[in-house]
Amino acid sequence: MPDTFQPTSEEMNFAAKYLGYYGYNDSVTRAESLTVVVLAPMVSDLRTFQSFAGLPETGELDAETLAKMKLPRCGCPDIRRVGLQPAQEARWRKNQLTYCVIHPVGGALSVAEQDDLIQLAWDDWQLAADIKLTRIPNSPLADIVISAGRGPADNFDGPSGTLAWAYLPDGRDGQLIMKFDLGETWVRGGNGILFRNVACHEFGHLIGLEHSRNQAALMAPFYKASIASPQLSDDIPRIRALYGPAVPGPTPAPVPIPSPNPGGSIMNWFIKKLVNYALDALEKQVLAYVKSTPEAWDDELAQQTFAFLRSFLNGTPAQQQAALATFKVANLTFDPLPPE
Ligand SMILES: [Zn+2]
Repeated sequence: MPDTFQPTSEEMNFAAKYLGYYGYNDSVTRAESLTVVVLAPMVSDLRTFQSFAGLPETGELDAETLAKMKLPRCGCPDIRRVGLQPAQEARWRKNQLTYCVIHPVGGALSVAEQDDLIQLAWDDWQLAADIKLTRIPNSPLADIVISAGRGPADNFDGPSGTLAWAYLPDGRDGQLIMKFDLGETWVRGGNGILFRNVACHEFGHLIGLEHSRNQAALMAPFYKASIASPQLSDDIPRIRALYGPAVPGPTPAPVPIPSPNPGGSIMNWFIKKLVNYALDALEKQVLAYVKSTPEAWDDELAQQTFAFLRSFLNGTPAQQQAALATFKVANLTFDPLPPE
């Protein structure tokens, strides 16, 4: 179908400012892109945007391109400006970071819910790469400050449009900010902007990832309700290239003293301890994989599987029999245990 779309001068002006603001026009700064009158978007800038956004590279402001520019998105630029430090410098020199929250987004999201979603968003990165984050009380010493703002003073534009933004590290380990637009309706689920998805994307910037051209990546600039966590096809290998894969932490549970149990032995206790430890480490890896490939795996099933393995490993013989009788994974079933 031929595209008979004719953009208005207002739309042309919007597109020119958009391309300047998101880094496609190197002749204007971000601040200038908001104030300087640019008459028409450059054909080459439009082509670069279309290529970045996975659209046909027509170099024209067609309906599809304009619709893509109107999508809610992250406020960070897509194209790195000439003169900034090379991308490989954009990482932390340490892998233990701290954060504090100085301004919640409010609205339908309680402070406790927001805290919970921030933790979930971070856990996805923590499972993917060797970088840890700990919350501390409000402090000028925090590596990451999570805040919220409104209007042009904070580079926001009301509902939709820019949702949030964050800085990228510059290799000097200075404090960085992540800011959410108070003009949005932030939600945990349902109608509105999913806070967890956006927080997870912004965390990606804070630990060094720029926007991705891969439209299925978490780090693509456009908001997608269906993408909540780093993807194995793009984001996860990129973050591992900066920090290496996640290393399983020590088991949090204190080591129990083996009781003098006539039915057991030190060796049984030791083997059980070892298998529990391996199970914890394996679970972290498997859940990270499952979360990143939802089309191939169901994370509820994975969690049930680990819950079963744990209860089977640590249960009494009667509990083990009951677990075997009720547990089914796909086509796998178990015969009853032989009598003792
Ligand atoms: Zn972004």
